[in-house]
Amino acid sequence: MMWLLILLLSAIHQSRSCGFDNAHHDYTAPDLDVVLSHNLALRDQNNKRPSTWNKVAITNVGVFDGWTMRPAQTVVIENGRIGDDLTGAIQIDGSGHTFMPGLIDSHSHPSNITHLQSPTEFGATTAMVMSCPEPLICDSLRNHKGLTDVLLGSTPAAAARSIHGRLLGLNSSTTMANASQSPSWVDDQIENGADFIKMIAETPDLSQDIYQLLRPPPMQKARLSSAMRPTTAVSSRPSSPTPLDETSTRQFLQKRIISTPTLIMMLKTTQATPKLNYTASRLSTSRLYHAEVEVLVGTDANDQVGAPAKPKFGISIHDEMELLVEAGLPPVEVLRGATARPADIWGLHDRGVVEFGRRADLVLVKGNPIHNISATRNIRKVWVSGEDLDDARREWMA
Ligand SMILES: [Zn+2]
Repeated sequence: MMWLLILLLSAIHQSRSCGFDNAHHDYTAPDLDVVLSHNLALRDQNNKRPSTWNKVAITNVGVFDGWTMRPAQTVVIENGRIGDDLTGAIQIDGSGHTFMPGLIDSHSHPSNITHLQSPTEFGATTAMVMSCPEPLICDSLRNHKGLTDVLLGSTPAAAARSIHGRLLGLNSSTTMANASQSPSWVDDQIENGADFIKMIAETPDLSQDIYQLLRPPPMQKARLSSAMRPTTAVSSRPSSPTPLDETSTRQFLQKRIISTPTLIMMLKTTQATPKLNYTASRLSTSRLYHAEVEVLVGTDANDQVGAPAKPKFGISIHDEMELLVEAGLPPVEVLRGATARPADIWGLHDRGVVEFGRRADLVLVKGNPIHNISATRNIRKVWVSGEDLDDARREWMA
């Protein structure tokens, strides 16, 4: 399969990208070295331990399979995958509980191991790293046994003198002056390990020529998937009292753009700045959903200097899901937007659904989140690629 994703942030006028996207000046050289060596040392140490794969059968448990709620049944976890043979399994009574796929945060900014541990504990077992100002740091977040798995974004392509370009101090290596820079820029991003390409669309915007050229050439051997579709972190500018109108939402649908509204980021940003207005973001999200635009769950969690707000890693995915319900999405749609739908859109075909053979990224919660989305907070157990987080944690501390 050829590989491509154009990650189109703020695809339309009056929209915005995430509250915070990247900034080269966040990492001074010594900070980068310290974080990098810490990440690498922990990965090395943790990955040397044997996997804590116990064969487990959860019985009488309701299953949200990524798309729909299924009647109480038994789910087997074996050798890191979802199995179907109970022989020799440790049995756990799941009565009154719901089993669901590990949650996927489609927009976050982790840079160290703590930023992966918190989401793991809160059941977010996969995260999209929405930009990589320092590819080495991002790469050091990959492949940590028993922790949230990441897909990495490129450094963002932004127009010189754009708002992000100016506010975040994007320098000439990340801003795009003309279309001739695009092909080699994409090559560099892929070379540096990007799983998807991030663009920041705002005023002044990148030219259409540049958009067209910000695609990996057809024979490019990169990981970027052609199955991926443009997505946007937009609802509308927190500073704008005007939600997206019908023309705008129609454009999302026509261009098959996906929305990751990051409402928790919008809420926290507007709370931090009283003159800003959250209502427009909520209304925009509601309109996108009613226009049948696919909506994903993403937090914009970050801990970086200069961010207008800092949603916490982990807990914020539950905040986001509640805000999406408050914006008018049915809980089942919100859960789909955190499991099967992003797995499909991001090309993660080994997860996101509870079915035989899939990667055992699973969360067991008390109650039924289809009836009350807040039930996702009642986490009893988390498995990451078949490892019970409790067992893995004991190993970390040993
Ligand atoms: Zn962001």
